[in-house]
Amino acid sequence: MRSYAGRVEIEADDDVSWPALRERIERSFGVANFSRVHEAPRDLEGLRARVLERVAADRFASFRITTRRSDKAFPHRSAEIDRDLGAAVGAATGARVDLGDPERTIWVEVLHDRILFSFERLPGPGGFPVGASGRVLALLSGGIDSPVAAWRLMKRGCTVQLVNFHAFPLQDRTMIDKVQELACVLARWQLRVRLLLVPFAAVQQEIVAGCPAPLRVVLYRRFMLRIAEAHARRLGAKALVTGESLGQVASQTLDNIAAIDEAARMPVLRPLVGMDKQEITAGAQALGTLEISTRPDQDCCQLFVPRNPAVAADLAALRDAESGLDSSRLVSDALHATEERRFEFPAL
Ligand code: ATP
Ligand code: MG
Repeated sequence: MRSYAGRVEIEADDDVSWPALRERIERSFGVANFSRVHEAPRDLEGLRARVLERVAADRFASFRITTRRSDKAFPHRSAEIDRDLGAAVGAATGARVDLGDPERTIWVEVLHDRILFSFERLPGPGGFPVGASGRVLALLSGGIDSPVAAWRLMKRGCTVQLVNFHAFPLQDRTMIDKVQELACVLARWQLRVRLLLVPFAAVQQEIVAGCPAPLRVVLYRRFMLRIAEAHARRLGAKALVTGESLGQVASQTLDNIAAIDEAARMPVLRPLVGMDKQEITAGAQALGTLEISTRPDQDCCQLFVPRNPAVAADLAALRDAESGLDSSRLVSDALHATEERRFEFPAL
């Protein structure tokens, strides 16, 4: 692999499958666009011969040549190369030159030691290389939103680790199975990802036994943030990530978001906050997580859900409710009971 200004060149053996390589590059954040290039010697005859070899098996009705000279010392100007190569390709294939809307474009780039040419320019995923922006810990439920939120932070250059809160054995393992599958999908973009599985039933049971029912969901969330924050510090992560979107459910009103945030000192990033469900669902579809996320599961938040959850939980009331709980013990028990799974792509 070699890098130039703003570009990286990867050399592959002839037996490497291009579709497989293309798929990998399409999932490499930081790549704006990419091409499969072929090499020719640094002279016009050599270039012509190599290009004609490649177009021999190709069928197209129209084409254009687009040349760039990174090496201005090359004896032929770009327009001259375009004309020379255009005439040769036209004669060999019978295709006509169309500068406006060609069926095939042949890109030529003259370097100081060789010439590169290619027939396609493909869009990369954009964003920043994973890891360039630091580490975060994303709260991953089995739902539609949180995998999309985690992916958006990967795209912004974060190394994302995952944490899930489950109520096993009070509930079955369906959510745990789903988040593991979701972690596999996300690992394709980051090559490796950790998933922390936090048993949460004990926390929920104490909240249910000791706190007013309408506050339950916000209290669950405050404890999730506290536990996640402690794990994040241990992992060197500087922020938490959730899939919340404003107004989507009762726990996601502005008041409740503020009340939930108050439980953590770390920033809580909510990349989906301004998106509506259709937009998020389209994101999940494109990411390939929608089918996994929409499978029925037993989500710990469905456990003991009150009939009338508070839409604007009062901070004083929340603190009062929590004063009856041994918060630090609940958090440290959950930390110690956490299991960690590692996922790699390609799968081991
Ligand atoms: P999602 O589709 O991501 O589950 P949702 O619309 O169901 O979102 P909520 O259930 O209110 O919304 O969850 C809001 C956010 O809180 C989730 O996006 C996720 O980041 C976090 N969260 C909720 N439940 C859990 C859980 N059991 N484990 C980890 N994170 C959770
Ligand atoms: Mg959910």
